[in-house]
Parts: sequence; C-alpha cells; structure tokens
Amino acid sequence: AAEEPRTEDVLSERRARFCTSMSISYDRPVQMVKGRGTTLFDAEGHAFLDAVNNVPHVGHCHPHVVAVGARQMALLNTNTRYLNETLLRYADKLRAKLPPHLEVIYFVCSGSEANEVALRLATAATDGATETLVQEHGYHGHTGATVARSHYKFAGSGGFAPPGDVHVIPIADPFRGVHRGADSGPKYVAEVEAILERLAAEGRRPRAILAEAIIGCGGQVVPPAGYLAGAFDAVRAAGGVAIADEVQVGFGRVGSHFWAFEEQGARPDIVTMGKPMGNGHPIAAVATTREIAERFAGGMEFFATFGGNNVSVAIGEAVLDVIEAEGLQENAERVGARFFARMEPMAERYPWIGDVRGRGLYLGVDLVKDQETREPDGAAARYVAGRMRDKGILISTDGPHHNVLKIKPPIVFSVAEMDRLVEALGDVLGETAVQRTA
Ligand code: PMP
Repeated sequence: AAEEPRTEDVLSERRARFCTSMSISYDRPVQMVKGRGTTLFDAEGHAFLDAVNNVPHVGHCHPHVVAVGARQMALLNTNTRYLNETLLRYADKLRAKLPPHLEVIYFVCSGSEANEVALRLATAATDGATETLVQEHGYHGHTGATVARSHYKFAGSGGFAPPGDVHVIPIADPFRGVHRGADSGPKYVAEVEAILERLAAEGRRPRAILAEAIIGCGGQVVPPAGYLAGAFDAVRAAGGVAIADEVQVGFGRVGSHFWAFEEQGARPDIVTMGKPMGNGHPIAAVATTREIAERFAGGMEFFATFGGNNVSVAIGEAVLDVIEAEGLQENAERVGARFFARMEPMAERYPWIGDVRGRGLYLGVDLVKDQETREPDGAAARYVAGRMRDKGILISTDGPHHNVLKIKPPIVFSVAEMDRLVEALGDVLGETAVQRTA
C-alpha cells in the first residue's frame, strides 16, 4: 500500500479539479483501491464489508464476469448494426425473466438513458400525450427529462420548479406518509385517481406514470399492498402507460421475485433497468410491448453508439448466468429474512428504531427521536453510518430527512456477514443510547 497516494492529498487534489457538488461519502472519506466479492480494500490496506453498493450485484470483480468481459474486449467490440448471436441470446435470457407481454428490448448505457427512452416510448404510445405522474421523493436520472421528473432532485436543495406537465403523487409511505398503515394502499391509489380526474377536467391527457416499486432515495419505502398495481391500472385506464423503474431494485435483489414490480403484483407496459445489470459495467435497458415498440419505430432509426455493444452484452449475459448458477435471488431472500429476524429484538430494545423495512437485500431502518411523534433523527443516522464505517462496514443514509439507514449489499452477502452487520449495528445503536442519556 506504500505506493498509493495519501488520502488527504487525493481529497484536496479532487477539490481543485471538480465541482463542489460532487459529493463524497463519510466525514472521513475512504480511498478504495481494490474490490473482491463483498469486500472493498482502501489504500491503507483496511478491508471493508460492503453493505451499500448495489451495482456490483454478484460481488465486486466477480471472476466469471471479469473473464468474459476481458475475453470479449480482446475479441471484438462493435455496435448493434451488425448481426450478433450473443445479442439475441442475452435478449432471450432477459425476456425469460420478464412477463411475456414485454418482448422488445432496447439496450442503452445508464438508468437515466433508459428512462429517457421509456418517456419517448410513452409519448409514442399515447400519440403525443405529455402529462406525467411521478412519485414524491422518486429518482429517475440526471439528464434533462429525467431530472425534471425526479421529485427527489427538483424539490430538493438546489432544485427548480418542474415543468407544468409533471404531477407529483404523495409518497406511498405507510410509516410516515399522508396515509398510514398496512391498509393505506387504496387511499394512495385514490391520490393517483384525483390527479387523473383533475387532468381530465382540464382536458389534459396522461402520458405515463413513472414509478419505482420501492422508493430508494425516498428512504427504502415499500408501498402498502395494492398501491402500485392500482396506480398503474388507474393511469392505464385513463389512457397513459405504466413505467416501472427497476434500475435500483431489479435483478433478484428483492429475493421473492426477480423484479420488485412483480412483488407488488403490478403490470407495467415499460420496464427500465440498469445499475446491477453489468455488475459495474455501464449497461442498461428498456423492455416494452411489441405494440408500443411499433408505434415508437415510426420510420426513425433507434441507435445508441454504445448501447448493446459486444462487450456490454457479453458482460450482461455473464451477470445473469452468475445470478442463476449461484442461486443469488434465493440468497437475497434468505439473507434478507435473517436481517428481519435479528432486527426484531433490537427494535424492542431501542425505541429510536422507528421502522425496519425493505425486501430481500434492499433494506432500510428509519430512525426517530420519539416513537409517538416519529420525528426523524437524521443526526443519529449520520452518526450510525459513520461509526459503522469506523468498524469496517459500509452502509449509507437517505430519505428526505436523511434519517434512514440504507442497506443494499452485493447479493452474494452471506448470513454470517449479515450477522456481523446486525451485531455491529446493535453496538452502535447502543452508543447512541449513551449519547441520548448523556
Ligand atoms: N432510476 C433509479 C431508481 C435510480 O436509482 C437511478 C440511479 N441512482 C437512476 C434511475 C439513474 O441511473 P444512472 O445513474 O445510471 O443514470
């Protein structure tokens, strides 16, 4: 490790070159130099258990994915204007994971790009309708159209007034939303219907609902039963299409299902995917129906220079193969269940644990100052994430009040690693108890 530059130097040099809005994790930043499975190594040789990076889905630098990518890089890398058998085979493997009505695939390079394509598909599917329903605290990307449809961004610090065709659905959060409790699903569907009725009264046609099945940046919020399915159906009945943004939660992470929208019983017309798809290699995709794809085609070529290139497609296929071969969706379900089982007694011991939620290995702990008022405790969450980092375990915080601990490890995370995480979390939450009574 002696040849690595000093972390303080890397930090100050970075500030000299980049925008101050390019953020860094932790009060004590880390310089990572190597990754393997669920472990990241810093420049000083410390090992960190990674419970936050959901992009290296099948584990950092998975040997099969690396070997396939390296082999393909040395063989050929060109674009989709040539015939390519791997492209067909990979598309078939992806389609086998999707509901049968989603049969046409577009390959792009990022989640933002996938959502841009999805919005264009929705415009075509609705003959030019413009009105788009999005979720409060939702996030869909950093590009022009997507950032303007990401409430998390446009309503946050440094935000802006969204275009007039953007309509925000209150976040379907059964813990701290406008309607509460496990049976609040129909009340949130009614919120969607109210927006649709207002649009109809104004003579404006809905284009789409763009929704995450579990709202990540909103604080790992799992909506109440029936909400997502009802919201999608309501928008469809009003003439729009339903877009499920699976960029964060797809590819078996939720354990019980391959896609989070399936876990919610919802039927999308368009699905976008990215992040874990290439285990860190930039590949993303959109899936839709033949009918929507044909309306979109309309004579104009669809082409993305890097979308569907040979290397990306080979890597994407390797990732799917590893998920299957290593039973990783099942692992996500098993290890997620372990988390809930072990957190239960802790939630009784520490009243500042307001809510423990999530699905599979997409988990959140909502910290509160008071059980009754549910006042969010962002300072405690920041403290806990920092102390976990000191103990060599990486988690993060999120949500509009920054009070939700976010746990979303590579899905190779083991039961033993989950035990280690929960035990460390218990110790750190105990420390916050000492702080509270001090
Ligand atoms: N949608 C969701 C739900 C996301 O979490 C993200 C990334 N955080 C995006 C879209 C955008 O993806 P990308 O950063 O690859 O453009």
